Amino acid sequence: MEHRLEADLTLSGPLPPTFPLGDLLPRVATEAIARTVGKRGEGRLSQWTLDGPKLHVTIESTGPRPHQALLALVRRLGEELGREAKVGVRTFEAPRYRTEFPLDSAPTAAITLPIPHQLLVEGTVATLTLHGLPEEGLRDNWMDRAVALVQEKARRQGYRGKEQFWSLLSSSPPREPLFRDDPTEEMLKRQWVRSGPTKGKWFLGPTAAHLLRTMERIAVEEVLRPLGFQEVVQPHQDSFDILLRTGHLEGLPGEFYYVAEPKTRDPAAWERFTDLVKITRQVPEEELAHLVTPPTAVLCYAQCPTTYWWLSGRTLSSGSLPLKLFDRAAVSNRYESGGRHGLERVDEFHRIEPVFLGPPSDLVALRERLLERYRHVFDDVLELEWRTAWVTPFYMQQSGRVGVEDAEARVKGTIDFEAYLPYRGPRESSEWLEFQNLSIVGDKYTKAFSIKSQTGELWSGCTGIGLERWLTAFLSQKGLEESAWPTGFRGYAGEVPKDVRFL
Ligand code: ATP
Ligand code: ZN
Ligand code: MG
Repeated sequence: MEHRLEADLTLSGPLPPTFPLGDLLPRVATEAIARTVGKRGEGRLSQWTLDGPKLHVTIESTGPRPHQALLALVRRLGEELGREAKVGVRTFEAPRYRTEFPLDSAPTAAITLPIPHQLLVEGTVATLTLHGLPEEGLRDNWMDRAVALVQEKARRQGYRGKEQFWSLLSSSPPREPLFRDDPTEEMLKRQWVRSGPTKGKWFLGPTAAHLLRTMERIAVEEVLRPLGFQEVVQPHQDSFDILLRTGHLEGLPGEFYYVAEPKTRDPAAWERFTDLVKITRQVPEEELAHLVTPPTAVLCYAQCPTTYWWLSGRTLSSGSLPLKLFDRAAVSNRYESGGRHGLERVDEFHRIEPVFLGPPSDLVALRERLLERYRHVFDDVLELEWRTAWVTPFYMQQSGRVGVEDAEARVKGTIDFEAYLPYRGPRESSEWLEFQNLSIVGDKYTKAFSIKSQTGELWSGCTGIGLERWLTAFLSQKGLEESAWPTGFRGYAGEVPKDVRFL
């Protein structure tokens, strides 16, 4: 694979006519190439010209892409020119930077990039030329990221339409459903819940709220406390910096609720806005747009990123490992759009998210104990018909990959828990509801947030307990009649609030 970088350097002034650039430049370039390309390929300064304060250089490489060589060259050249001729390198850019690289499969549709470029593909070999790449782009490695992006887009096209990976792990025995309708419809009829006031949000009246909190108590008392998880309380907003580190910002930008702030709280600045409200009794949207900032954060999407942020840059003592935490304070917000349905797919939901960190072997052992406790809850307390399956890990889905990462060992990866929903049809052919999951993610997030352990490798994992999903799974199979509910659940529920009567 060949790479060719044409760069323009702007010097702080012209060089004296007698300056021996013809000796200096090739020497500096050879050193820079030796240090960056080294033995990993052949690199050379293939061309150069000086035109007043403009120095054009072309570097070619058959090994690593040559922008690191250019950076080294600029640094050394600046030092030498400064010493010998009191001239510096002011800026540099690449009018053309061409690279060749392989693709997993030939693209089936056009691939676009948001920076000036030309992309040619022959079979599974791509040739990408970036045009007018600024200094920042050369220093900050835009070329390698652009290449990774083209490869990712080609891979996604290859997978489009293919089934996500799904492999049954275990299942409960079948259970005769006590109910066959959509539980949300039934709750609406009984006025337990009301849809609104904004998209995909639900108001749970006393009965539904009590049942949701009962699910929460069961999860905490039957799963989390016995396994030694400790509660934390985290904020409801995630910073962009956190989302950049986890990859969520590039993976899911269309699923966030974005947060804007007032530009000022000075009443004088808001006077026109308040006056308009008083006169029109409507929201002066245009006026409002001037008074708030562009988004500065997002509402919590999942809790684990903020838990990792809390630990970022820290070293955990061996005595604290495995560290087992859970949050139930932050409410998850997702823009589900067309997928919204009843209480099971909502834009705002309540979720307990346990996060665990430790050596890989500890996490594998902890996963077994979590599976055991979950099994106990679903079999003995909720008496559900349920199953588990290995699925494409959530952090791989976003990069267009299917499959489990280490299909053989099954150390890292995601397990989904699914419940049968009788209202959707026969158990063999209908879609079951994912009501929670459990993942070991390896060192992806401990690395991204620079979290270390006193000794050895530090891995992490999380498991999302979706309370609305636990509730819908339960009510779908058991119905809304208290007398029919399993004894274990009734023990936890205690006295259920009476329906509010509306006239
Ligand atoms: P799905 O594939 O159903 O959209 P997901 O893969 O997006 O789920 P995760 O991000 O893995 O879900 O979140 C973990 C848990 O959060 C899920 O198992 C589920 O219990 C809950 N959850 C996710 N999205 C929603 C939603 N829109 N409404 C209610 N609960 C949800
Ligand atoms: Zn998580
Ligand atoms: Mg989802």
